[in-house]
Amino acid sequence: MTRYVAAIDQGTTSTRCILFDHDGQLVSVAQYEHRQHHPRPGWVEHDASEIWRTTKRVLEESISTADAESADIAALGITNQRESTVLWDRETGRPVARSIVWTDARTETLVRQLASEHGDRVRELSGLSFETYFSGPKIRWLLDSDPALKARAHAGELMFGTMDTWVAWNLTGGADGGAHVTDVTNASRTMLMDLRTLQWSDELLSIMDIPRSLLPEIRPCVGDFGQTRTVAPGIPIGAMIGDQQAALFGHTCFLPGEGKCTLGTGGFVLLNTGDTPVCSGNGMVTTVGYQIRDEPPVYALEGSIATTGSLVQWLRDGLGLISVPSEVETLALSVPDNGGCYIVPAFYGMFAPYWEPAARGVIAGLTAYVTKGHLARAVLEATAWQVHDVIDVMQVDAEVSLSSLQVDGGMTANNLLMQTLADVVDVPILRTTVAETVSLGAAYAAGLSVGFWKDKEELRRHGHRAGQWTPRLAADTRATELANWRLAVNNTLNWNTASPRVT
Ligand code: ADP
Repeated sequence: MTRYVAAIDQGTTSTRCILFDHDGQLVSVAQYEHRQHHPRPGWVEHDASEIWRTTKRVLEESISTADAESADIAALGITNQRESTVLWDRETGRPVARSIVWTDARTETLVRQLASEHGDRVRELSGLSFETYFSGPKIRWLLDSDPALKARAHAGELMFGTMDTWVAWNLTGGADGGAHVTDVTNASRTMLMDLRTLQWSDELLSIMDIPRSLLPEIRPCVGDFGQTRTVAPGIPIGAMIGDQQAALFGHTCFLPGEGKCTLGTGGFVLLNTGDTPVCSGNGMVTTVGYQIRDEPPVYALEGSIATTGSLVQWLRDGLGLISVPSEVETLALSVPDNGGCYIVPAFYGMFAPYWEPAARGVIAGLTAYVTKGHLARAVLEATAWQVHDVIDVMQVDAEVSLSSLQVDGGMTANNLLMQTLADVVDVPILRTTVAETVSLGAAYAAGLSVGFWKDKEELRRHGHRAGQWTPRLAADTRATELANWRLAVNNTLNWNTASPRVT
């Protein structure tokens, strides 16, 4: 009997592979980083060949560390950094350029131009508004940058993929008959897929001027993506799912109104909105949450927050008030409250729901009474209030009310933050024992596809719950704090200096 399910998480800074057992417990892990290339300001690239080499290595190592072999692995799931774009030669299997990473801002001018002509229609069809991170404009940029490449793309000589596709194609044979496939969640971040039909849209392809022959076949997240052939041969690839959606799946947020929040360097909130896509009037992204075989897809609203854990890093590196991130909790606990002080960390402007790139951060409410302990409180509260602001508009958009919020990511080790989050968002906060929720989600999806786990209910019963925090802030105190936070946010949004005095 097969004992394990494997999950490859091809992330932005590293690639890892984790083996899980039938109880969803971690058995072995292998992880390697890859190089970040920054050829110009605002550009970020990865070498897809390096990523493929690393992927092979982590798959092999995770299996050997567990003292297992391919035959012990029931299925493999692939999850990945979303939107990062690879173009490669169909014959040789070699990338024709470095991959353009989701954070890369080179498409800004292109995106602005496309938005002015087609913004509303593209949003209607794809659920996305023109931002630099989606893949379609990255493909277009690559083709525009080299007429020979464009000609080859139109001649059918090239293939496009996000990292899920690149990894799956190479695992299943590469140039020797590899499967050119993607899944609905990754495809929903290309700006080329019709969010309702879950197929490539001819209209979007024509707006973006991208030939259809470049594109992989779109499949449900839980399904059949072929078998591994080039490394650890014979394992069925049972799932592909983008990383944030994988976290939603790993938290078993299967019902409308269930949501998850990942709190790392930045924050990502996803809310399950059921089987119809909800269009946000407030700057949230409408995305596919997941699809199991030929069942109707489940949609989600997504809100991203630019600065959460990186504010803690700033307290350490910028101000030198702490030496490791965990010290922020001890420092914050040295005082009973924020002392009237609020920090809005608009280091890179404000993302959802404000979308104000020109915003710059403020520390508001400073008096001589404020100490470093109060600043530490304000740092943690800043994350909690930003999550609150995203969830607040999501609930309005989706006409659902959140029953609880599942959390993961490095910041969730902070118990004071967890209580603050419960108080501020005003719902119970649930933290799981398996920190690697993204990988767990990919493993769950792959295990479902081959019957390793019977159904979603069985996954729910794993109940990896490690901690729960319930709201306990008095309603009037919460209202006052919210009003103060809003004042501080307004100061941030209205910050408007033509030339900041930075020397
Ligand atoms: P990412 O996946 O985005 O690289 P992680 O999930 O590993 O991030 O989380 C790292 C972030 O969490 C860092 O920004 C760090 O400052 C923050 N962090 C780590 N531990 C704590 C803690 N105990 N309290 C608050 N923030 C923390």
